[in-house]
Amino acid sequence: MSAKILDGKALAHSIRQTIKKRVEERKSTGQRAPGLAVILVGDDPASEIYVRNKRKACDEVGFVSRSFDLPASTSEAELLALIRDLNADQAIDGILVQSPLPAHIDEETVIETIQTDKDVDGFHPYNIGRLAVRKPVLRSCTPKGVMRLLETTGIDLHGKEAVIVGASNIVGRPMALELLLAGATVTVTHRFTRDLEAHVRRAEVLVVAVGKPGIVRGEWIRPGAIVIDVGINRLPEGRLVGDVDFDAASQRAAAITPVPGGVGPMTIAMLLENTLEAAARH
Ligand code: NAP
Repeated sequence: MSAKILDGKALAHSIRQTIKKRVEERKSTGQRAPGLAVILVGDDPASEIYVRNKRKACDEVGFVSRSFDLPASTSEAELLALIRDLNADQAIDGILVQSPLPAHIDEETVIETIQTDKDVDGFHPYNIGRLAVRKPVLRSCTPKGVMRLLETTGIDLHGKEAVIVGASNIVGRPMALELLLAGATVTVTHRFTRDLEAHVRRAEVLVVAVGKPGIVRGEWIRPGAIVIDVGINRLPEGRLVGDVDFDAASQRAAAITPVPGGVGPMTIAMLLENTLEAAARH
């Protein structure tokens, strides 16, 4: 079997086109363009690239993006004061603080300072809690993007064995809540899981988000499974790869996401969608 490639780049492009049209419609009825504030603290090169891509995507769909590039020496109090100003700013619908933050700033405090209806990353405990009680409002971008990719396969998730590898606050955990909401039987594996292979072998839907290349071996994939690889790893020679052994896995899976060009572009498209949704509610 050779798996169907789930083209996140193409899907994200078509979602951005739809968002762009909705922004034009808003403006034609006299409403303002959605506004996203993007805050970067410090000069981590990978974060600079992520932030640049997010700002570019905002411009492309006609959002107003406001950039705050702060030095690594910024104090937590200064950052929280900026977030409070943006919470009160009528022209801003979404606030994004790029992680990782410098060690002297507490990430949890920062996330919890963002007004919940401007939390377009969907990381605030309120928004995670809403998803947990089956009443999602702003949903975490990466898991939301994965759900969109799964939709394109036409799979009915009710009763499916879904296995998630990785249990972080931003991917694994909200991913479990999304799949549970969709009716799948969900297993979450993590650092203390005893027999990862046995869990992966059962998965009809497999989502991997660890950040370790090759942690999931191709021969573990259940024939006909749908494999979503969230991992992004740069190899010493410079090439980007996911967490799943792609070549071997695509011989067994029914569908698989590539890295790059799978989940990554969907995360940014969902950030834009969340910002548009937040603007519509404001
Ligand atoms: P993270 O916070 O480091 O979390 C990694 C998770 O993997 C943790 O829950 C950890 O378990 C788990 N883990 C570690 N070793 C494991 C093992 N042997 N078996 C099973 N689970 C294990 O990372 P993250 O932020 O979730 O990101 C994960 C990967 O996805 C990274 O490569 C990141 O770059 C990528 N990512 C991509 C996107 C995108 O848009 N494509 C978005 C976000 C992240 P514990 O909880 O027990 O420590």
